[in-house]
Amino acid sequence: MPPFSAKSFSGRSRIVWLLIVFATTTICLGSIVAMVIYADAHDSIAAQNLVTHTQEVRLSLATTSAQLDRIELNGELYLATGNKADLHAAQDATVALNSLVAQLEALVQSNPEQETQTRRLRSVSATLAQDVDALTAHRDLVGRDVVACRRILGLMEDQEGILLEQRGAQARRENHDSMVRRAIVIVVGTILILVLFGFLIRDAVRSGHYEERLSQTNAQLRSTVGRLEVQAFESKLLIDARDEVSLCLDAEQAEKSTVRYLSELVPGTAGSLCIVNNSRQFMENVASWGLVPGSAAFEGFAPECCCALRSGRARWRRPEQSEIHCTHFLGAPPERYLCLPVVAHGDAMGVVTIECSSPEAAAVVEAREESVVSLAEMAAMAISGLRLRERLERQSIRDGMTGLFNRSFMEVALERELHRSVRQQKELAVMMVDIDHFKQFNDTFGHEAGDLVLRQVADALRLGVRSEDIVCRFGGEEFVIILPEMTAESALQRAEYLRQLVEELAPRYHGQPLRQVTISIGLAVAPLNGDVVEELLRSADRAMYVAKHRGRNKVAQTDGSIMAFGENRSGAS
Ligand code: GH3
Ligand code: MG
Ligand code: MG
Repeated sequence: MPPFSAKSFSGRSRIVWLLIVFATTTICLGSIVAMVIYADAHDSIAAQNLVTHTQEVRLSLATTSAQLDRIELNGELYLATGNKADLHAAQDATVALNSLVAQLEALVQSNPEQETQTRRLRSVSATLAQDVDALTAHRDLVGRDVVACRRILGLMEDQEGILLEQRGAQARRENHDSMVRRAIVIVVGTILILVLFGFLIRDAVRSGHYEERLSQTNAQLRSTVGRLEVQAFESKLLIDARDEVSLCLDAEQAEKSTVRYLSELVPGTAGSLCIVNNSRQFMENVASWGLVPGSAAFEGFAPECCCALRSGRARWRRPEQSEIHCTHFLGAPPERYLCLPVVAHGDAMGVVTIECSSPEAAAVVEAREESVVSLAEMAAMAISGLRLRERLERQSIRDGMTGLFNRSFMEVALERELHRSVRQQKELAVMMVDIDHFKQFNDTFGHEAGDLVLRQVADALRLGVRSEDIVCRFGGEEFVIILPEMTAESALQRAEYLRQLVEELAPRYHGQPLRQVTISIGLAVAPLNGDVVEELLRSADRAMYVAKHRGRNKVAQTDGSIMAFGENRSGAS
């Protein structure tokens, strides 16, 4: 759904944003830490430098003091020994002292107090140098100068001691503060990074959830689309099936068409459509698909063989569901199959059996069962309608006892064929057929035997003509045969052939042989003997009476000529 994708998008941009903040903060924190460390190191070095400086000053003071000792010692030695070398040593020492004082002055120039002391020391040391030069004359002065120098050095020493202590403490404080600052910066930085990192992880986890939900939603969408596609496919198939079945002219076409669509609706299956026969004692297999060994290759079964027909509703047989099998399979029944009664107007007129060779095929049928039921219902209505129409049509145009066309149909058909023959300028033959002495069959063997003879003669006439010829029962024991596009000569031969066919019938009633059946045939040909129905029939009828009067079992033409080969073996006249 759109909200998930939008959230996911904002989640992603948020992560990018956080990453930028994270990187920037890390860089800033790193810089701050570096600056703090640098500043601390700088301060620490400065403090340490001060301490070192103080120590240097103290060292210089000590050296200066040692130089004073040398002056004093060499001076004393000179005074005691008079050795000029000692005097020179003392003088050299004063030079060195002055140089040391100059150094000291340079060292303490940043400290005004010490600088003042140094200036005093320089003055006293200069005096000392002069006094050393005049050592013999001013022997007391040297000692006094040395003491003065020592006092100044002592003061400076004390001052530097205090400074050293202060600066040491300062350096330690600096170190401590620096450590604290570093610790604070590192801790704060770490906390900040951890917080940002936490946000990052949280958003990444949320983003993961969104991704998961998005993929779940996508999967749902895919399955919904797949379902809709299947539904669309099923709907289209049902519409196509309805359209095609509605075009069918007879039940047989509709049955075949239904089975074809069933096989498309549930691919990978086998099955059959069985329709109850007229006696309602037999389910006739009218169409099947996917011939699996031992399944659909059968003619039909008794209705009681099918559990679904017995229960009156659709029935699945699966191994985990039922052990009872229908008994309408030729070989071993399949493990999984669906029997679906085909019901029209509340009447179970047939059954659809769908056999599934695998659990997957059964799953497909189960998923599409609703459409299978719809297709079966639609087919049931169509087939039942077509069957009803066929029956009504048959009743309206056929003779119930012989199955031949009835007189009304004959009149219409003859009219139509006459028009056609005129249009095509072709001949048309009409035969009027009458069974000879038929009354005697009734009288001798009974009415039922008469009916049997009527049916046998009707069958012989039907079998003895071409498929395009129309054989009709005209009434009683009389028949009319319309033979389009047939010349008089051919018609004469065909009539003789029919006469012989009937003559060769050997009807038996309840095992008892009846007497020989013969017919008399009157022949008329259009346009020679007329080009309207009544005229042509009248001509044929007249010819038929000629055949009767000439001894029966004869073929007569309308001009009164009798076929030479027509024999009357019935003996009647
Ligand atoms: P012909 O050779 O002169 O034609 O003699 P016929 O006996 O065949 O003629 P007729 O007209 O005297 O008798 C026809 C009989 O056919 C009369 C009637 O009882 C019988 N018949 C008419 N329709 C049926 C029918 O549907 N079934 C039976 N069994 N008999 C019928
Ligand atoms: Mg008759
Ligand atoms: Mg008759």
